Amino acid sequence: MNPKPNIQNLLEKESFSHDELVTLLSVDKAEQELIFEKASQVKQNTVGNKVYLRGLVEYSNICTKNCLYCGVRSGNKNIRRYRLTENEVLEAAQFVLDHHFGSMVIQGGELSSTQNTRRIGQLVTKIKQLSQGKIGITLSMGEQSRETYRYWFECGAHRYLLRIETSNPDLYKKIHPMDTFHSFEKRLQALDDLRNEGFQVGTGVMIGLPFQTNDDLANDLEFFKNFDIDMIGMGPYIEHKNTPLYQYKDLLLPPLDRFYLSLKMLALLRITMPDINIAATTAMETIHPRGKILALQTGANVMMPNITPLKYRDDYLLYEGKPHINEESQLILDHLIQDISAIHCEIGWDNWGDSRHFFYRHYENKEIDPNP
Ligand code: SF4
Repeated sequence: MNPKPNIQNLLEKESFSHDELVTLLSVDKAEQELIFEKASQVKQNTVGNKVYLRGLVEYSNICTKNCLYCGVRSGNKNIRRYRLTENEVLEAAQFVLDHHFGSMVIQGGELSSTQNTRRIGQLVTKIKQLSQGKIGITLSMGEQSRETYRYWFECGAHRYLLRIETSNPDLYKKIHPMDTFHSFEKRLQALDDLRNEGFQVGTGVMIGLPFQTNDDLANDLEFFKNFDIDMIGMGPYIEHKNTPLYQYKDLLLPPLDRFYLSLKMLALLRITMPDINIAATTAMETIHPRGKILALQTGANVMMPNITPLKYRDDYLLYEGKPHINEESQLILDHLIQDISAIHCEIGWDNWGDSRHFFYRHYENKEIDPNP
């Protein structure tokens, strides 16, 4: 029988084998603190204590896809579909500008019509005009053609989030409808296309899915590294009763265990990819009231306060129990500022807060600070 590995010694290493990652993901409560401490040190020594804000606009819940875990899937007839008007998006952009966030994220369901492509491109262009180029724009609009990505990049978007959800193709098939419209290979191709069109590329996974193992999660961490990803947004899987995956709810870990497993993933990600951007996601906060702050202390350096007009927030529930759906953007921001200063972090006001990893891949001189 192999002796139990010493976690402290393991954490002295700069990289981990697959089996070591599985071991680290499986440690108990006492030992997981060692991982969190190590990740916190790595974060301090690489990206520092700055937190970058992106105002999150949930642009539309109209989606042609039917992912089996998602509350806004096309098959869910129990929600009101919406799309923000151009004015509403520009007002949100003005809020970002007035409050010195530096960046915004425009997120919406996947639509590939020419009309939608144009509409998004025009929005990006107008936000750039309104802010005289000051607002950095991240898009999250699903899988699109390479031409669409190119067009949106040319309009001025420079970061894109497209979550892989799991790097295990078999598990991917279990959480998506079995058709060519929901293809793992297409998702990989889209990530490649984004990279080749010049975007800073973000992805992520759900943690604690039914049928998922620690072996899968270790593979996810290795996938991020092998793909040389620039930014990650990941968090616990949270079930939604109006989805097919809900039938497997009895297979799930208790919510708090899913939360701590997610925190371990986040910490290991910071240790293995020290200079990427990592978001403290809303799903973390859905399970644990201090989830986002614990994520920041453990390795995250990006937060995305929701600035979607209040009247739409109820209708963008990818999962249930989402916090802040009745809270004004200003109030969310006030709480965030207090929480961030309480843990001695600093907000990178008026800064795009780009991924250092992206810059270091392009410019070999590591003395250049992409976020001065
Ligand atoms: S996860 Fe994204 S692509 Fe899938 S149904 Fe939900 S919004 Fe659409």
